[in-house]
Amino acid sequence: GSADIDCDVLVLGAGPGGYSAAFRAADLGLKVVLVERYATLGGVCLNVGCIPSKALLHVAAVMDEVAHLGDLGVEFGQPTVSVDKLRAHKEKVIGKLTGGLAAMAKMRKVTTVRGLGAFVGPNHVEVEETGGTGQEKTGTKKVVAFKKCIIAAGSQAVRLPFMPNDPRVVDSTGALALQGVPKKMLIVGGGIIGLEMGTVYSTLGARLDVVEMMDGLMQGADRDLVKVWEKMNKGRFDNIMLKTKTVGAEATPEGIKVQFEGLDGSKSEGTYDLVLQAVGRTPNGKKIAADKAGVAVTDRGFINVDIQMRTNVPHIFAIGDIVGQPMLAHKAVHEAHVAAEVIAGELQGNKELASSAFNARVIPSVAYTDPEVAWVGLTEDQAKAQGIKVKKGLFPWTASGRAIANGRDEGFTKLLFDDSPEAHGHGKILGGGIVGTHAGDMIGEIALAIEMGADAVDIGKTIHPHPTLGESIGMAAEVAHGSCTDLP
Ligand code: FAD
Repeated sequence: GSADIDCDVLVLGAGPGGYSAAFRAADLGLKVVLVERYATLGGVCLNVGCIPSKALLHVAAVMDEVAHLGDLGVEFGQPTVSVDKLRAHKEKVIGKLTGGLAAMAKMRKVTTVRGLGAFVGPNHVEVEETGGTGQEKTGTKKVVAFKKCIIAAGSQAVRLPFMPNDPRVVDSTGALALQGVPKKMLIVGGGIIGLEMGTVYSTLGARLDVVEMMDGLMQGADRDLVKVWEKMNKGRFDNIMLKTKTVGAEATPEGIKVQFEGLDGSKSEGTYDLVLQAVGRTPNGKKIAADKAGVAVTDRGFINVDIQMRTNVPHIFAIGDIVGQPMLAHKAVHEAHVAAEVIAGELQGNKELASSAFNARVIPSVAYTDPEVAWVGLTEDQAKAQGIKVKKGLFPWTASGRAIANGRDEGFTKLLFDDSPEAHGHGKILGGGIVGTHAGDMIGEIALAIEMGADAVDIGKTIHPHPTLGESIGMAAEVAHGSCTDLP
């Protein structure tokens, strides 16, 4: 009829959720249109999230490591930093990955349509072409007709309403743009994103204050893990303000003057060269005219889905940040595969594919700080709160040959096993946490153990290579099992 393009499946948004869904659907033989308002594929994660932050964090970690080497007898002297070169490196990393995605889309014959998409009916999306950096509209419109749709429009940073419109006030995207290194920086919100960016800027020379409404930083992780990070990172901060709200801010020639109010009513203020707002992310559900297709959106902008990633409208699916917490790239990718498979199964009459569902037991979280903090499944705090009896196996890295050899033995590995009477002393692993260098690279093994229903013997008797940090996982299991008698 009136459509400019027809397809089996339209994917709205090309972040990790969207491109993964588009690629899987194309691999399964479907005709796919991928709509994205920005010039590059990859969404928040590749352009202004996971990847650029890790490019900068890698440099910070090496700089910090080199600084430690002084104690071991090797001095490199004061580093000199070219912010321009560092920024160029980060841009190159992004370019490599987004370029790779574009090539993969082409190879799979996924049609990418550049522009801002909005529903105009249950089987039509209108795309208003965008140019330049993303928001400029060229005036050209195209209508895409689809049999099925996957909404993957993601999320964006929350802005505090009272923050002045000033280049010295940024969100994570602005912080990653790395326009320079401030002397004094405020991080509003002590979650993973704020603390990762704080790590980068402080290693490059900024002094940090952080303000957090809750009673601790890095909410979600067990306090014993966070304590190790705090001890190692004290030196970066002038002021850690907990149970404190940011209540006002104004731009002055001296800096951004910010007002704080403690939950106890106490008032204070500070002036900063750079203020990073990292107070959470809000889903883009209200910006796609979902109602035109009959798709229900919550007050907060989320789209509810079932375990097949299906919205209230049977032929429309949603994945990634827009369907809820945790807002993580690896969650989006797995949800994407489910949605694409269900759609292919239904269009092709393949029952096995059509029954695909998202039923991951656990989704790991990682703060790529220094040291890293990683956790998966049940935490000790949750076990306590929910009255779940667990047996803990904790292996301190002061007993890890590799951690000691690395000069970084501040970490530990902790595993939690079901200790309910029904488990008869052979409880399965329910969760785990690691704090220490490379914790994020190791947490996947604990996730696998949980998915496989492993118990302490399974993990403890699995031979880990020596000397590695990963050995600490086997050792923690042996501690829990009571068979660890030979701590070095
Ligand atoms: P997004 O990545 O948000 O992509 C959505 C895409 O849809 C965007 O490209 C957007 O332009 C497009 N879009 C939206 N609306 C429209 C429309 N109407 N028309 C056309 N296009 C549209 N996660 C991790 O797992 N690990 C990390 O280390 C990590 N680090 C992060 C660091 C930072 C600084 C930030 C901000 C986030 C980080 N995240 C990390 C989170 C991660 O980036 C997100 O969970 C992930 O990008 C979500 O993927 P998504 O596909 O749901 O949406």
